Amino acid sequence: MSPGQQNLFSDAGQPWEEDDRRDRLIARVVFPEGPPEPYDYEVPEPLRPEIRAGQRVLAPLGRGDRPLVGYCVELTTKPELQRRLKCLSQIIDSTPLLTPSMLRLTRWMSEYYLCPWGDTLQTVLPAAVRSKQALRELTLVTMNPHAARIIAGAKPPKITAKQQAVLDILKNNPIPVSLADLAAQCDCSPAPIQSLREKKLVVFIKRFVGEGVGVLHTGERDRPWELNVDQQRALDVIHRAQQAGEHATVVLHGVTGSGKTEVYMQAIAETLRFKRQAIILVPEISLTPQTRERFLARFEHVAVLHSHLRDAERLWHWERIARGEVSVIVGARSAIFAPCPQLGLVILDEEHEGSFKQDKAPRYHARDVALFRTRAESVPLVLGSATPALETWHRALTGEAVLCGLPTRVSDRPLPLVKTIDLRVEAQNKMNSGAITRTLHIAMRETLADRGQVILLLNRRGYSTHIQCPQCGHAEHCPHCDLALTHHRQKDLAICHYCDYQTKTPATCSKCHFVGLKFTGLGTQKLEAEVKARFRDARVLRMDTDTMKAPGSYAEAFDSFRRQEIDILLGTQMIAKGLDFPNVTLVGVINADTALHLPDYRAAERTFQLVTQVAGRTGRGDRGGRVLVQTFNPDHPAIVAAAKHDYAAFADGELPVRSLFHYPPYWPLARMIVRGPSETIALAVAQNLSKEIDAKLKAAQPNSRILGPAAAPIAKIRDLFRFHFQIQCPDQDLLRESIRAGLALQKIPDGVQCLVDIDPLDML
Ligand code: ADP
Ligand code: ZN
Repeated sequence: MSPGQQNLFSDAGQPWEEDDRRDRLIARVVFPEGPPEPYDYEVPEPLRPEIRAGQRVLAPLGRGDRPLVGYCVELTTKPELQRRLKCLSQIIDSTPLLTPSMLRLTRWMSEYYLCPWGDTLQTVLPAAVRSKQALRELTLVTMNPHAARIIAGAKPPKITAKQQAVLDILKNNPIPVSLADLAAQCDCSPAPIQSLREKKLVVFIKRFVGEGVGVLHTGERDRPWELNVDQQRALDVIHRAQQAGEHATVVLHGVTGSGKTEVYMQAIAETLRFKRQAIILVPEISLTPQTRERFLARFEHVAVLHSHLRDAERLWHWERIARGEVSVIVGARSAIFAPCPQLGLVILDEEHEGSFKQDKAPRYHARDVALFRTRAESVPLVLGSATPALETWHRALTGEAVLCGLPTRVSDRPLPLVKTIDLRVEAQNKMNSGAITRTLHIAMRETLADRGQVILLLNRRGYSTHIQCPQCGHAEHCPHCDLALTHHRQKDLAICHYCDYQTKTPATCSKCHFVGLKFTGLGTQKLEAEVKARFRDARVLRMDTDTMKAPGSYAEAFDSFRRQEIDILLGTQMIAKGLDFPNVTLVGVINADTALHLPDYRAAERTFQLVTQVAGRTGRGDRGGRVLVQTFNPDHPAIVAAAKHDYAAFADGELPVRSLFHYPPYWPLARMIVRGPSETIALAVAQNLSKEIDAKLKAAQPNSRILGPAAAPIAKIRDLFRFHFQIQCPDQDLLRESIRAGLALQKIPDGVQCLVDIDPLDML
């Protein structure tokens, strides 16, 4: 441990004076499984030489003095309250698990997200790090150095195709790899590897995790490209901040295929030259095998943190990172907590993606955590996207972040031509049945005849249906919220999920008075059947959460698509992510409106992002590509802008709407969910709570407002009834203070839970 790490909270200066220390030393302790507030303990003489902030300790709590595990978060000479203090019983960790900067980060998270400090401490430390019982034996495999001689010998052993695949991988991996990883990579059981061992072609090694396991890398090393002018300019901005030792937020706005990843990689290479580490966050890493492979191919000391890691592997990575043996960390949102000793750069790829937000407490957004961390450690933060979140764009507009644009694709490849197909016209065409219009059908036929591949997107989240006029395309909206109404079948009502506005389900369209409103509900399964019926000879693969449950199934599906064993890939938004397949020459969006009418103020933004992202999946090779977007709303600004690949036009149109309704990025927003087994009790708690919070808010800020409470769009989950309300207030601190005070005043009945979501993304 470096001496600097003993320096606790730097803002508190030296934690104790020499004289004071002889008198008294107090440890402030947070208990994850105890009360939310920190407790002070006297550090007894024998423990003084060893105690550090960031260690776990045992301390007596409550009347019975039950010893409980807590985190020592601060050492001080002055107790918070002047009363007799109990003594710490024991120190658990010989070295701190948390550096002072991670302690500051978690304290900030607990204040910002209104979540107990103990819970955020548990969140940033992997379970295996806390339990340490993960130190178990692993079986590693490596090539027998004499294998070549055995194969070339007089009696060469028989080698099956599976076994050959195993040998091929081992040839490229001089460092031993884990048996389980190897079997997963070759898509086989351990049996073929065991029989290779019997043939003496491979050797098994038993090791305790922690001794060094090779990261499986199957490709060739790749080299940096010569950057184009725009890429170079972005790289320069990042360098300048690094050289100055300053924080800068760099928004890398580049259309799909513009070479953002190349900029990331060269910025990382520069970071390594400073002997510092880089963290790159990617959304749902299991969905982006290509990105992962590119980092593995470029850099040597890479840790890939994905959700399928076993505890032992996670611990092993964590310890290597903490020791500074890893220079590049690639992972999903929680990789932002990687314990790098000398952080030099953080990158969020596809920074607009919703998976960067955690959906259980603490409900943190990795972008905001990254911002706090990079500011505190004075290093740059790069936010890359073809479709930046409006919050990010707004920060660039106001000068809080530096905007770097990559407006063209590399090698001057054109962006694909996007055409919309007007479903209102098609609806009147009685010859046309099903989800695929005639125009799309013909385009698919041409593409398949040309040996091109097709991607079809249908983003169907089928929990409820919306009310849409098949003639004019109008969807019924709430008069107070500018949001789509949701059809509730049982009570036959159209309801706004924000303010609880209700009306009887209309019989006719409120705009053109057409009789025969539609409650649409087409899912990917139905689409798959239709595609198979239309294109009998085509090889079709459906990808959605139902078909992709098993770990590794994404990678498998992508591989077979890449090998062109699949002609038509259809699925939900998971197919819209960073795929790069040159042979995809047609992308079809079955219904661009599915996200447009969700009860969410981000509906237009989500639609724009989805259409733009999926359109980016084509035109990546020399064969060009085109995109057909089926929609009832060809004139909707989000769809018009997406068809023109025009992010700025979308943002210019959408930001004033956000401003008008005081939504983010203008005013902070919080969402409260009250859930419980009794509908009436949960509702009563929600009403009381919102009344208390409202009173606090209004007293200080008459403009603030509460929307709701109302039944949540998903009104019941696992037998718990859910009510929610949103709180809009221009003042961050007041918003939090009111919620804190409101919750403190509530006597919350057994079984009822009140959840706080700051900057919510999920409105369901
Ligand atoms: P993005 O991340 O913006 O989608 P990528 O970084 O994946 O774009 O770049 C798209 C393709 O162009 C990749 O195959 C990449 O290797 C290549 N590429 C990137 N930068 C350059 C460059 N300066 N010159 C030539 N090819 C490049
Ligand atoms: Zn409303």
